[in-house]
Amino acid sequence: MDWSKLAFSYTKTNTIITSLYKNGEWGPLESSTDDTIRISALAGSLQYGIEAFEGLKAYEGCDGKIRLFRPEENAKRLQRSADFLGIQAPCTDMFIKACERAVLENREFLPPYSSGASLYIRPFIIGVNPQVGLICPHEVLFVVAVTPVGAYAAEALKPIKVLLARDHDRAAPMGTGSYKIGGNYAAAMLAGIKAKQQGYAMILYLESANRKYIDEFSSSNFFGIKDNSYITPDSDTVLPSITNKSLLQLAQDMGLTTERRKIALEELHEMDEIGACGTAVVITPVHEVVDNHNNITIKVGESERAGHISTALYNKLTGIQFGRKHDTHNWCRIIT
Ligand SMILES: *Cc1c(COP(=O)(O)O)cnc(C)c1O
Repeated sequence: MDWSKLAFSYTKTNTIITSLYKNGEWGPLESSTDDTIRISALAGSLQYGIEAFEGLKAYEGCDGKIRLFRPEENAKRLQRSADFLGIQAPCTDMFIKACERAVLENREFLPPYSSGASLYIRPFIIGVNPQVGLICPHEVLFVVAVTPVGAYAAEALKPIKVLLARDHDRAAPMGTGSYKIGGNYAAAMLAGIKAKQQGYAMILYLESANRKYIDEFSSSNFFGIKDNSYITPDSDTVLPSITNKSLLQLAQDMGLTTERRKIALEELHEMDEIGACGTAVVITPVHEVVDNHNNITIKVGESERAGHISTALYNKLTGIQFGRKHDTHNWCRIIT
């Protein structure tokens, strides 16, 4: 494997882990060398989009130990998404066991510490019983797949230009925005690709009820730094990011004040640093927000490098994930 060429893409590994919920109970976790699954053509996941997923990573630490970052938080979030869809999700213990087993059975795909890369874990649940009627699926397949992905400090902290969403929304008021379900991604996929073709790394969404306040990006949360305060939107339509929750805690530990509140678009001008945060890249600083609708470009910070607080937070969090820094909050789970 050439670890230096990894992007965020799928490489087939040794095994996937699966379990089927049927007749009111979960079957045993099984591993399969085949990464295809056989389900009814009329499965609820295919007909009505009954799917929820998670994303977390395994890291080889500087001490050679394998770490998972806060997997119980991912388990809880999947349970929350499942409750929303009206389907079963594995309990936290089963979720973590499946993730650990997927990592161990694919040990040689875990990028070495020196590469700075990691093993991305994709657990998901889908409704599998055949249906045409509108019922919540009673048979659910839980799958955990893994794939090595790259992430380099130089790239991760490179400031980007984003497009303000003006012709579509990601989430409706009181809608599905706060659940990690495939449908949310289906609805925003092509818009994101079109924005990329126009030179924007991502789309920044506003709260759709009023289009006044910042919500989040298509697959990461928004945060800003202003006068030594870490600020992130308080909104019912934002996905509760585990990275954001962790950064908020680390900001507090660093002596910053923290705020979860409405952030008006106009307030961006006053920010010292802004950025996107999520498992995939931890922190991506944002230098430009382009509002084509009003011919306005909001510029924050420098174009060539991340602000010093974003950089410090990035170093702290990745330091904990790779075992370089003391894990004060006991976030990492070491796999043996
Ligand atoms: C997964 C996701 C995030 C990031 O969550 P993390 O737990 O930090 O990976 C942010 N926004 C959306 C819409 C997401 O789907």
